[in-house]
Amino acid sequence: MTTTARPDHTRNASPYLYGQETAAVAQALQGGQYGHSHVTEEFEHRIAEFLGVPDAVAVTSGTAALHTALLAADVGPGMEVIVPSMTFCATIQAILAVGATVRFIDVDPTTLCVTDQLVMDAVTDTTAAVIPVLFGGRAVDLLGARQELNQRGIAVIEDAAHAFGSRSGQHLVGTTGALTCFSFGPIKNLTCGQGGMVIPRSPEEADTVRRLRLLGVQESQGERANITTYRVGGFGLRYQLSAINAAIGLAQLDHFATTADTRRHLWHVYRDALAPLDGVVLVDVDVDHAVPHLCQILTPHRDQVFAELRAQGIGVGVHYPPNHLQPAFAAWHRPLPATEQVGREVLSLPFHQHLTEKDIDTVVTALGQALKSAGGS
Ligand SMILES: *Cc1c(COP(=O)(O)O)cnc(C)c1O
Repeated sequence: MTTTARPDHTRNASPYLYGQETAAVAQALQGGQYGHSHVTEEFEHRIAEFLGVPDAVAVTSGTAALHTALLAADVGPGMEVIVPSMTFCATIQAILAVGATVRFIDVDPTTLCVTDQLVMDAVTDTTAAVIPVLFGGRAVDLLGARQELNQRGIAVIEDAAHAFGSRSGQHLVGTTGALTCFSFGPIKNLTCGQGGMVIPRSPEEADTVRRLRLLGVQESQGERANITTYRVGGFGLRYQLSAINAAIGLAQLDHFATTADTRRHLWHVYRDALAPLDGVVLVDVDVDHAVPHLCQILTPHRDQVFAELRAQGIGVGVHYPPNHLQPAFAAWHRPLPATEQVGREVLSLPFHQHLTEKDIDTVVTALGQALKSAGGS
């Protein structure tokens, strides 16, 4: 279903609706379900079932998932959180929200992801958590570092905003024992409109996130209907996922196998089309295991190519300007050579499920010409 009349290759990203989402929202509204309700709980249940985990806790966004996960892992002031600079600014803002200190680290420039070694090199006595970012959909399990991190009491909180449905080896992201955070924002692999999900490591952690998302109130909505008071057990936020958003997510989940196949197929089409181009490095998302979220290249002529393609109406983008260079995060700046180079060279090609093979051909042909005129061949 095309949502606008614009040619599909003019957009960098775009939600893809299968058509059932509208009816699902109407059904929720007609049933009087607006805020947190049994529809939200059904969505949680279905996500847990999809992943094969005991529980999943829905929140309003991926940022809220990261925020509540950090709180549930007892991360706060005076503690340091290791995080790649190469991520969406939301990851960093969640760390600031709990009052912790940011320790930026570099990434492997071929994957844009952290490695066990890069993480372990940054660990100090004040490290409370590490947030690997599963960039572009590529799983980063840190399994080689987990034992030592566990021994040192350092939580692994996955920013899996890009990686719903991806696998680490045979294991779905969310099932390797980390505290995992998904985003179901408009352009993510699965969308609720806006939404997020925390995959807790224990029933206690699940309870904590449920309390945090409901203003610190402990009882469930059902229990509250039958009592004259409620108990505020601690700090809390207004982070429950509405039934309206959950209904969209439920409808999307029914089609997730198609989503995964389509995204992998489009990524393969790009890979084959890009292969003959000189001077282009494709960022490796491990497509055999990932549900790709992005299709990115590295080129030293990024700025010229970006301008040229935009001038032709092609929806290229940049994910992301490095966070350690952002004014808001300057206090934690440190030189990160690989990230800075990626920040100068990375280009995200249009990547979403409205694309056709012809669109991809249009993009890659224009890219080839832009590279030539930039002197990149
Ligand atoms: C989208 C995104 C988030 C935040 O998710 P929202 O649902 O937009 O709050 C966090 N990290 C990364 C890497 C993202 O792409």
